[in-house]
Amino acid sequence: MIDKNINLFKLSQKFIPGGVNSPVRAFSSVGGTPIFFKKGLGSRLWDENGKEYIDYINSWGPMILGHSHPEIIKTVQNVAQDSLSFGAPTSKELDIAEMLVKLVPSMEQVRLVSSGTEATMSAIRVARGFTSRDRIIKFEGCYHGHSDALLVKAGSGALTFGQPSSAGVPADVAKHTHTLAFNDIKGLEKCFSEIGSDIACVIIEPIVGNMNLILPDIKFLRTLRQLCTKYETILIFDEVMTGFRVSLGGAQELYGVTPDMTTLGKIIGGGLPVGAFGGKKEIMQMLAPLGPVYQAGTLSGNPVAVAAGLKTLELIQATGFYKELSLVTTKLVEGMTRVAREKGVKFCARSVGGMFGIYFSELPPNSFDEIMNSDREKFNKFFHSMLEQGIYFGPSAFEAGFVSAAHTEKDIDDTIEASSKAFESLND
Ligand code: PMP
Repeated sequence: MIDKNINLFKLSQKFIPGGVNSPVRAFSSVGGTPIFFKKGLGSRLWDENGKEYIDYINSWGPMILGHSHPEIIKTVQNVAQDSLSFGAPTSKELDIAEMLVKLVPSMEQVRLVSSGTEATMSAIRVARGFTSRDRIIKFEGCYHGHSDALLVKAGSGALTFGQPSSAGVPADVAKHTHTLAFNDIKGLEKCFSEIGSDIACVIIEPIVGNMNLILPDIKFLRTLRQLCTKYETILIFDEVMTGFRVSLGGAQELYGVTPDMTTLGKIIGGGLPVGAFGGKKEIMQMLAPLGPVYQAGTLSGNPVAVAAGLKTLELIQATGFYKELSLVTTKLVEGMTRVAREKGVKFCARSVGGMFGIYFSELPPNSFDEIMNSDREKFNKFFHSMLEQGIYFGPSAFEAGFVSAAHTEKDIDDTIEASSKAFESLND
């Protein structure tokens, strides 16, 4: 049989740089040919060859209800009939803004954009405008999209390519970005004691999902909050991935640490392009047309995308939604860990809400250095064995995995069974 993925990838490389529109999709880290998908339903995907997969990427997080959820599709179809875009205010934008302010503890006002990258880039501009300071702090291995100031020691695809910073970022821009180690309280305190009053903002993934899954030390998050308050530095939680993924109120609700600003994306668009940034009213009022910080977007608050997001946000508020999602995700990581142990493979895994990490190491990593020490070759072999068996994990040892509400007990059982074979193949 002709493998359509191979042909499509070859042709794509002729017309699209690297054949993909986002680098991690190219399978560069794990080797082999990326899969071209043509259909998704619930927890399942079908590729161009007609092969079926259980999906643990879920479009990198947005598809928390699974693919082609009938209510989302119906909503999109209905709204699309009234126009795809106005470039003018709509009542749906008000509805989603009210919903986000209600659900996210730190949000008093919110502005919609079209991607996570735009959200973090704009939040930083507002923070700089508000404080009249230039310096920002981020953490090694955290990824906040691909704006210039944030592509410094970044995670996700930038890590996969072993190229933490990107060419094309002027040194004059990067010099304002200070990078510290995640979970390192001493480093944080030292930095603030030296330059605290020059720092406009600290941006952080409160739970990191872009160097695989790394959990914060609660003391680290609390110290960060205290230092930002003390030095009047704006604390930005980048919850593009964790927002509505780890709990209804995100990581800030889970850990009880409230930032000054929050960035969102992924789930709030239900699979269509939506991002958002928001926070304290006095900070958000810096934005044009009220204040001096400029930010805009032709398709910002797009009616179809916002309607898909709003419907998603409605559905995930069902009683017991997160309890069930967490249970299913925990069952997956516990099952795989048990099987790995039976096969004598050095492996561990953990989850938070509907997000999980798998690691080829003795203990779960808590820092960038620790994740860099996991066995990437084993991961790659494991990944390909799972893929062959129809289980679609992220094609890099540095990505977190995602479970949706559409994943059934049987999906999890099938995945654990497949993992048994994959772990066994590692001993060959
Ligand atoms: N922040 C975080 C935490 C992310 O995980 C991502 C994307 N994975 C982004 C920002 C950038 O979002 P987008 O790809 O929508 O621009």
